[in-house]
Amino acid sequence: MEICFITIFPGMMSGPLASGILDIAAKKGAADYKVVDLRDFAVDKHGSVDDYPYGGGPGMVLIAPSVVEAVESVRSPEEAGEVPVILMSPAGRRFDQSVAMELARHEKIVFVCGRYKGVDARVDELVITDTISIGDYILSGGELPALVVADTVIRYLPGVIGDERSRDTDSFSGEREFLLDAAYYTRPPEYRGLKVPEILQSGNHAKIDEWREESALERTKRLRPDLLDDSEEGPVQP
Ligand code: SAH
Repeated sequence: MEICFITIFPGMMSGPLASGILDIAAKKGAADYKVVDLRDFAVDKHGSVDDYPYGGGPGMVLIAPSVVEAVESVRSPEEAGEVPVILMSPAGRRFDQSVAMELARHEKIVFVCGRYKGVDARVDELVITDTISIGDYILSGGELPALVVADTVIRYLPGVIGDERSRDTDSFSGEREFLLDAAYYTRPPEYRGLKVPEILQSGNHAKIDEWREESALERTKRLRPDLLDDSEEGPVQP
C-alpha cells in the first residue's frame, strides 16, 4: 500500500513513520510512505500556502490551488475513481476499527492534513473523496490524525503483524468487535502483594482461553458497557 501525506509539517511525520509497526511495514515492503511538503506547491516565492478567510474573522485557511495541485502530484487522473483522498477533519465520519479495515483494502491512500481554520471548501468538491475525524475534539493539525489512521490501517496489511492472532484478540478486532481485550500479566508472579491469577500459570490452555473470555467480558461490562448495547450479548442491565 502506498500512503501519501500532504502536510505543511513534513518533519512531524518522520519520527512516527520510522518507528514501530509503521517502520516494519515499510521494511517488509507492505507499505511505502510519501510525505509531500505542501510548500512545494506554494503560489508565490515566499512559500505561501494559506491566506485570510473571505468574510474576515480570525485564523488562516489553506489555499485551494496548493492543496489540489499537491493531491494531483501523487494521484493521477486515472486513479481518481479508486484512490481515496481523505481530508482529516473534525467534520468527518468517525474513525473506528471497521473504517480501518475498509481502508486496508486499497492499494493507495492520500491524506490531506489541514491546519489553522482548515482548508478552502472548494478542495472538498474538487479532490476529496472521504472525510475522517478521529473524535470529537480539535487538534491543531491533521498530521497526528492521519498517522492515527495510517497506524491502524497498516496492522491489516498481510504479513505486517508477526502473529495475527495477537491482533485479532485485541479490543474491537476480529470476532471481538463488541469486546475489549482481556487483562494481561507478565513476570514477576507476585508484585507488592498482588498475585497473577493461578489459572494463567496452569498451562491448561482451554481453561486459560475460558479465563480470557470471561476477563474480556468483565472488563467490557465494567469499562465500556456501551459496546455491549449493540452486540448479541444485549444491553447491560444496571
Ligand atoms: N475550524 C475547524 C478546525 C480546524 S483544526 C473546525 O472547527 O472544524 C485544524 C486541522 O486539524 C483541521 O483542518 C484538520 O485537518 C485537523 N483536525 C483537527 N481536529 C481533528 C479531528 N478531530 N479529526 C481529524 N482531523 C482533525
